[in-house]
Amino acid sequence: MSTDAETPRAPIVPAASLLPADAPFPKAAKVALGMPQLRANLAHATGTIRAKRARLVDELDDWERLRDTAAAIKADVQHRLPELAVEFERNATAAGATVHWARDAREANEIAARLVREAGTDEVVKVKSMATQEIELNEHFEAVGLKAFETDLAELIVQLAEDRPSHILVPAIHYNRTEIRDIFDQRMSDAPAGLTDDPAALAEAARLHLRRRFLSAKAAVSGANFAVAETGSLVVVESEGNGRMCLTMPETLISVVGIEKLLPRFADLEVFMQLLPRSSTGERMNPYTSVWTGSRDGDGPKDVHVILLDNGRTGVLADEVGRQALSCIRCSACLNVCPVYERTGGHAYGHVYPGPIGAILAPQLEPGRHDDLPYASSLCGACYEVCPVKIDIPEVLVHLRQQGPHHAGERAVMGAAKAVMARPRLWRTALRAARFGSMPWRRKGFMRRLPWPGSKWTVSRDMPTPPKEDFRDWWKERRR
Ligand code: SF4
Repeated sequence: MSTDAETPRAPIVPAASLLPADAPFPKAAKVALGMPQLRANLAHATGTIRAKRARLVDELDDWERLRDTAAAIKADVQHRLPELAVEFERNATAAGATVHWARDAREANEIAARLVREAGTDEVVKVKSMATQEIELNEHFEAVGLKAFETDLAELIVQLAEDRPSHILVPAIHYNRTEIRDIFDQRMSDAPAGLTDDPAALAEAARLHLRRRFLSAKAAVSGANFAVAETGSLVVVESEGNGRMCLTMPETLISVVGIEKLLPRFADLEVFMQLLPRSSTGERMNPYTSVWTGSRDGDGPKDVHVILLDNGRTGVLADEVGRQALSCIRCSACLNVCPVYERTGGHAYGHVYPGPIGAILAPQLEPGRHDDLPYASSLCGACYEVCPVKIDIPEVLVHLRQQGPHHAGERAVMGAAKAVMARPRLWRTALRAARFGSMPWRRKGFMRRLPWPGSKWTVSRDMPTPPKEDFRDWWKERRR
């Protein structure tokens, strides 16, 4: 480890650990809002990606048609998921891969650990993968004596910091380059002495560190962006080339793939390969697209395994409104435009999928948990406008709110309001009572701190004071 005696640096504190563990979103978000450096990092990074995406999307005349086509393909997949999964298994097996089925995280983790041991190793290199984060594969490996090394640069930063990712695409979005330099300096055993925070120097340090891992790894673990039923192929889309090293150099490759990643035909990739890079990194094409179909002698891994993962997805599929969430291609465009995400960051969501997609996916994948997340939205609709597969996120948010535990209170309030408004005399009496009753809390046209149960509203919102006279009084006055 390099040392810098003249400028001693503060020890790394994982950003995720600064938020209360397992706290509901409102509590965690409040703490995150009090971190000015985090907010500055997020605003800078999301603002940059947002602008790049908007520029490149404007170049395409048929953007809306591409979105419609992608949405139609995904809807078709959801209608034929069992049939397509079996077709994928048949074609991948014929091409030399072994397909495993995992009902949940436990099964997927156990299969993956067994396959690593069978490969004669206790270490794997990893391609960035949301599915393996979802099932907490690294944690499982550690518990059973195996070690997983992340090779995506941002994932490497997060792993070295013993932190959790805070963005789907840019997991270390909450760190600036000085913080990254400190993480490398303190946690990377072979970091060069005198490492600066110059991005090129940081990338070079990571490149040399990872190269040694690639050359010695016997097994690799990946996810997949797409799984093509027609050919049994898997597709990984990435920017750094580290993924391709993992996919081609080790002898054993284990890919954990959510069943919603299926596409019917190879030709469907044409649509998604136009939508995904523009929506995610704001690029016309992503630098590395790896496609592999089973195994072949003398070309890539000899032993290819695919673990098809359910882990709550068939439950989501059963909900006619909520199932749209399974169309997600994890581009993260919705995170980058979300005013809530931009201010709180990903850790506050308490789930591997943060932002608008997390707010509709997490409560469905884990029913009974994350019930606060559908409320982590202003329902402004920006997420729907940018979503390349046209997931109507606001519609699903409202749908999930109606099923959540808070809805009973909302329904009771609305029921009472309806009963009062339907009776003109009662309504006028209620208005007068509100006018006089609100006197002690009025401040410049607003009531900012009402006592319970009104405090539930005013704790995070303003409430205008009732007008001095209502329409009926106004009308009566003028007819005299
Ligand atoms: S919901 Fe849409 S915009 Fe958000 S990550 Fe998924 S595909 Fe991208």
